Amino acid sequence: MLVGADGRDSQVRALAGIKQHHRSYDQVCLVARAQLGRSHQNVAYERFQSTGPFAILPLSGDRCCVVWTVRAAEESEWRSRSTAELCQAMAERFGPAQMAMFDSLELLTPLAGYRPRWAHSLGAVQSGLILIGDAAHTTHPVAGQGVNLGIRDAAALGELIQRSGLLGVERRFQRRRFWDNWGVLNLTDITNRLFSSTFWLWVGLRRLGLLVLQISPLRWLLMFVMMGRHQTFPHLHIAEAGQKMSDLLPMYSEQKC
Ligand SMILES: Cc1cc2nc3c(=O)[nH]c(=O)nc-3n(C[C@H](O)[C@H](O)[C@H](O)COP(=O)(O)OP(=O)(O)OC[C@H]3O[C@@H](n4cnc5c(N)ncnc54)[C@H](O)[C@@H]3O)c2cc1C
Repeated sequence: MLVGADGRDSQVRALAGIKQHHRSYDQVCLVARAQLGRSHQNVAYERFQSTGPFAILPLSGDRCCVVWTVRAAEESEWRSRSTAELCQAMAERFGPAQMAMFDSLELLTPLAGYRPRWAHSLGAVQSGLILIGDAAHTTHPVAGQGVNLGIRDAAALGELIQRSGLLGVERRFQRRRFWDNWGVLNLTDITNRLFSSTFWLWVGLRRLGLLVLQISPLRWLLMFVMMGRHQTFPHLHIAEAGQKMSDLLPMYSEQKC
């Protein structure tokens, strides 16, 4: 059994000839590591704008990862700007009042560009091969769900093999993971489109939606689904090794930034 876990440009997938359904967005995520003047208190912030989301994600210490989504055509222009100009533009995008929470933001690395993509090869069953994580499905980073899905894939696969062995595991794995992956893939796609739109009807709908989320149990329901708790949760062996997810996540964020 070969498990392809080699990311969104998976060579395993390509060599096996597995086709992907995919769509690109007219967006680029400009990503950099930054030092904040005051602690982020381990809170992740995301502001939705017409070019896409702007996020400040906590790293260890007072550092953070800035993910700034711009239109694809603007990428080279922003990447040619000086650090001072970028910091000023980021403060404007995030909002001067909100930026005051951190005192200051200083870029520690040059901007890297990441082209978000909606892509999947869900449902493709090939004997002796299973794709997991981004190799099988790639979501827009707007809702920060890629790692969650990958961990749920890996844990479900481990559990299926442990319970019933390798025979027919390819099909059992697809059945077990299809709807969770499919649902999150499309929910993130809709979120990105809805929040990037300037069309009055969508603007009105999303304002109403946010208001409803504030005052109703729907917010709890949304969190419940995004954390994957609506399904039988695979037993995570990480916990048995004495490590908590909270110990592992900062490591992940540092790597991605
Ligand atoms: C800007 C940004 C922000 C994000 N924020 C979040 C977030 O907040 N929360 C979240 O859940 N997700 C987030 N994601 C998505 C998340 O990073 C991915 O979904 C996740 O990293 C996918 O994990 P993976 O292991 O499947 O693939 P990858 O992380 O791409 O890992 C694949 C690994 O395979 C290795 N590899 C590839 N080819 C070979 C080869 N031929 N031989 C050996 N090794 C190979 C690579 O080096 C790599 O280490 C974000 C993504 C981006 C770009």
